[in-house]
Amino acid sequence: MYLVSKTSLDQFLAWACGSYRVFVPVNRNGALHFTRYEPGAPIAADLGVCRASESARDFFFPPRKRVALGLGGDDAESSEKPVCLVGVKACDVHGLAVLDAAFLGQAPHEPLYARERARGLIIASDCTAPRETCFCTAIGEHPHAWVDFDLNLTPVPRGYVAVSASEKGDRLIAEHPEWFALAADEDIVARETLRSRIERQVRAQCAAAGVPDRAALDGVMDGAYDSGFWRDLASACVECGACNTVCPTCHCFLLHDTLDAGENARFRTWDACLLKDFARCAGGGNPRAKLWMRLRNRFDKKFSYFPETAGIIACTGCGRCVTACPARIDIRSVLRKMVDHGRRDQSIPAVIGPGA
Ligand code: SF4
Ligand code: SF4
Repeated sequence: MYLVSKTSLDQFLAWACGSYRVFVPVNRNGALHFTRYEPGAPIAADLGVCRASESARDFFFPPRKRVALGLGGDDAESSEKPVCLVGVKACDVHGLAVLDAAFLGQAPHEPLYARERARGLIIASDCTAPRETCFCTAIGEHPHAWVDFDLNLTPVPRGYVAVSASEKGDRLIAEHPEWFALAADEDIVARETLRSRIERQVRAQCAAAGVPDRAALDGVMDGAYDSGFWRDLASACVECGACNTVCPTCHCFLLHDTLDAGENARFRTWDACLLKDFARCAGGGNPRAKLWMRLRNRFDKKFSYFPETAGIIACTGCGRCVTACPARIDIRSVLRKMVDHGRRDQSIPAVIGPGA
């Protein structure tokens, strides 16, 4: 483990601006937002106390992106600098792992996402003040990243304790020894003390909110899939798709062609599985014509399909959908209902059929 001083971090950021578009979390009107960093700008010593409003996904898989220009051409060789995100929290690191599974897990890969991930740099940092809606520990994660980053920085009194989890991180440390001193015992103790305190805090707020624990989520859809509670839940949903658009793991998209600066262009735009036409096929057929089916599908994908096919829960516990939902549908209580109804309904016949 290494110790990075505040001065060394400033030097690293100035260096990174030469090769990357660097974004750091900045507090604006009480919320953290990833903001383009210019050398010399002040940064918060804690690198953002918890996750920002926008997730890391938005930088590697933006809401709208031109993917081809001209007949047969493509935009794969973008001239933009790659992204360096600083202060990425563990939940967003997990979110990128889900996107990696979706876009890079098997061939063919999503070429633009693959390119940006390969070029990008992820500097994670520990949470120091989780939000009331955070529940990362309930899905088996921690409020500090432990894999899938390049460097992680934990704020401690003498600076930041740094660890690498990638070849890029190792290279950075090897090529810039001036920024990385060996951490002293007091730095490591400070890191572990912070981590235990924040982990306890998130676990306590999960317990207070009645969020089921990780073990209860294994196979939770098996019992909950045919439960009637999806229809009750759908009666509150206003079908705005906000839960999809804020979610760091949602990755469905549409391709559409249009003119851009007088040339044929193809754009990739986020889609949302809560919206009625999401699954509509040619001819007008829709396998998820009812709202409750779409709502259930969202949870099925996150808590059954992804664990079964990619070995990862496609929810990070970030709580963004909790605050974004105008109908106050709270994923933490939906999970509790899934567990409760799953247990209860396993012994009784299904109440939902395709025509309900
Ligand atoms: S969900 Fe966990 S990792 Fe994410 S911001 Fe909250 S405490 Fe931090
Ligand atoms: S489902 Fe909600 S809590 Fe889970 S990752 Fe998406 S926005 Fe975060």
